Amino acid sequence: MPHPAEIIVDRLTKTYGKFLAVDNISFTVESGSIVGFLGPNGAGKTTTIRMLTCYLPPTGGQAKVAGFDVFHQSLQVRQNIGYLPESTPLYPEMRVQEYLSYRGRLRGMDHRRLRERIPQVLEMCWLSDRTRWLVGKLSKGYRQRLGIADALLHNPPVLVLDEPTVGLDPAQIRETRKLIANLAGQHTVLLSTHILSEVELICQRVIIIGRGKILAQGTPAELKRQSAGRGGAEAGLLVEVRGPAGQVRSALDGLPGVEQARIVSDGPVCVLQVVGKLDGSLQEQIAATILQRGWALRELRAAGGTLEEFFVQITDPGAVAA
Ligand code: ATP
Repeated sequence: MPHPAEIIVDRLTKTYGKFLAVDNISFTVESGSIVGFLGPNGAGKTTTIRMLTCYLPPTGGQAKVAGFDVFHQSLQVRQNIGYLPESTPLYPEMRVQEYLSYRGRLRGMDHRRLRERIPQVLEMCWLSDRTRWLVGKLSKGYRQRLGIADALLHNPPVLVLDEPTVGLDPAQIRETRKLIANLAGQHTVLLSTHILSEVELICQRVIIIGRGKILAQGTPAELKRQSAGRGGAEAGLLVEVRGPAGQVRSALDGLPGVEQARIVSDGPVCVLQVVGKLDGSLQEQIAATILQRGWALRELRAAGGTLEEFFVQITDPGAVAA
């Protein structure tokens, strides 16, 4: 009987010299599910993925993919896993079909299997109209589809996709998302992404990692509830302003009733979280202060209850310095 296509990670650890990049993490990705793997920059996502795909040996712990140990059975793991790296190494001078055929031969697929499988992945990834195109002439979205087609070529039960929609335009993002959602059931998918709406739309479960440790895991609904649970006075208000984040923070921090104002995101439009006595007059004071300073108030609402807020709360529990 074939092994269930699970990913089981047990106390996996990776150090680079003295630096602990992945710290004793454990999680399971159930057969046929799509699980989001999230974390801020430098959290340890790529390091974990590279261990699961046998590109990097773990320093400690173990991981199994479709029943095979990533350290001792790397050949079997590679046969059972399809990997879309963050930047797909494609050969610009090859044609799409030729590229897939080359990649399949590298994996030991014979001619008959390739003849059967290449048209299938081309169709699944909406590439059938590009078979004779030079890879170098493909748009970024098509190149990403080719990367996914390549990962799917040997029909692996498990897929690991690292930032599959990065750099795509909104229409391409929607198509790629649809493609990934269609893989559920037939494949087990670990999806690393920074896009939280993507996770809500297609992932059954979410694992959040930060500084090498698992910070939270659960369904998107469970995590959102946890965010709301941290809500009320503690989560405070979210204020979206077109104005200089540091100055907005100082202005709001000085208001009576404000315990703390912190910057959640910076840019021409910034978002701040304001914690304090939420008795209604605070909202009025915040709005008045922002308007008096000549900044544009884009939104003012109660914090808590979204995946994005939960992510911010647990990956950056301290204040973002102004
Ligand atoms: P991002 O979202 O930015 O890609 P990530 O979650 O994938 O981040 P990793 O690339 O796994 O994070 O890196 C985790 C930590 O390990 C980072 O602090 C990084 O600087 C460090 N790191 C990664 N590769 C190496 C290496 N080869 N040598 C030393 N340190 C490394």
